[in-house]
Amino acid sequence: MSDVMEHYQDDGLHEECGVFGMYDFDGHDVARTIYYGLFALQHRGQESCGIAVSDTEGPKGKVLSSKGMGLVNEVFTQEDLDKLKGNIGVGHVRYSTAGASTRENAQPLVLNYIKGTLALAHNGNLVNAPELRRELAHDGAIFQTTIDSEVIAYHIARERVKTSSAEEAVQNAMKKLVGSYSLIVMSPRKLIGARDPFGFRPLCIGKRDNAYVLASESCALDTIGAEFVRDVEPGEMVVISPEKGIESHRELCQKEHGRCVFEYIYFARPDSVIDGMSVYQSRIIAGRCLAKDSPVDADLVVGVPESGNAAALGYSLESGIPYGTAFVKNGYVGRTFIKPKQSQRESSVRVKLNVLKDAVAGKRVIMIDDSIVRGTTSDRIVSMLKEAGAKEVHVRISSPPFLYPCYFGTDVPDSDQLIAYNRTIEEIRQIIGADSLGYLKLERLPELTGGRQFCQGCFTGKWPIDPPKEDIRGEYDA
Ligand code: SF4
Repeated sequence: MSDVMEHYQDDGLHEECGVFGMYDFDGHDVARTIYYGLFALQHRGQESCGIAVSDTEGPKGKVLSSKGMGLVNEVFTQEDLDKLKGNIGVGHVRYSTAGASTRENAQPLVLNYIKGTLALAHNGNLVNAPELRRELAHDGAIFQTTIDSEVIAYHIARERVKTSSAEEAVQNAMKKLVGSYSLIVMSPRKLIGARDPFGFRPLCIGKRDNAYVLASESCALDTIGAEFVRDVEPGEMVVISPEKGIESHRELCQKEHGRCVFEYIYFARPDSVIDGMSVYQSRIIAGRCLAKDSPVDADLVVGVPESGNAAALGYSLESGIPYGTAFVKNGYVGRTFIKPKQSQRESSVRVKLNVLKDAVAGKRVIMIDDSIVRGTTSDRIVSMLKEAGAKEVHVRISSPPFLYPCYFGTDVPDSDQLIAYNRTIEEIRQIIGADSLGYLKLERLPELTGGRQFCQGCFTGKWPIDPPKEDIRGEYDA
């Protein structure tokens, strides 16, 4: 792969998808609003995106769609959006591992079958995808993609042939799915949203005039001027139709939940509220906890943008040490960004972040970041602060050390790639060159979710659902 086409990959972590759907009962076109909704969810996936729409008054089953590789504002033109005529629609943004990053795997998936057309957008990862795929393949299914979402779509289509409604088909398919999924399904006359019984990934409902919206995060509702109605509950399926408004099906709701705690720490936007807990407040709390548990004498607290900023403010509020800005971020790194070669003086980190020398020179700095994955980024950022004249750099991390991979819709890698695995905190401190290092304590995590049950598998190795028997990561994706 040429340097130009090599996907820009950093040491950070990625969410694997964001979903958005809309049904306008007054018949107005929804494509443009979905575009803005996806734009607000861009942080959840930057590799590909797509929109599929249908006209509920038009010929049943006619779906128009447009998708491609790249950012939302790179993929869709004004003409594309003008052509997408329809008052019901679904959209998707996707991040994937480089190998599976193809146009065929871009979503929404549109499936034509005997009962009409189905469009589907999915965020998450199924742990039983290989079994489900084999089951379908034995029945003669020919797959066009390598994504779990196609397996889900086929199962829904298969159920739909046997059932009397689209929602019954989705509910029956949900009973077979094991893993994480926040789904939006568009049938010719209904928009259906569903969240897996553990609620790994978020999904919420909004309303604007006579239209209902489903979105991965509430920040997308704010962006399009919709009011927040509520979250889809873990295990719940909601069916949106003009006849009944929102209908809720809770057959699969259960007491045990497994919200991804890392949504609060890093993945979600700080202006989102997930299951009643503000992401911003959650990060402030993480910073306060760090200040209580890992105090240090210093002149300035700074955050590594963006997710470290709120935690840095929390640390400052708790400790009384002034909060400041030390980094300027260049946020324009796109998919086809030419990655600097190892030998070049420009590092990927330096291209994305620069230090405000005046702010840190001669100071003892506390630097708050959300996580350390492989350690390469932290090492560079600490040296940049020191080169800019910081007297001391004390690193505080607003999550516990990553020790295990994630199988539920993110790319937290295998243990052998994680710097904290088999190392002491002192060893990690030496590798990244910090004067001191402190992580959020595991027992503080419940404070970040306001006491709601959550998944912490990447920190403890205990996931709410057993990991897959076959490791499908990188082969089949969300
Ligand atoms: S393993 Fe970690 S990243 Fe994955 S869902 Fe659980 S908390 Fe989130």
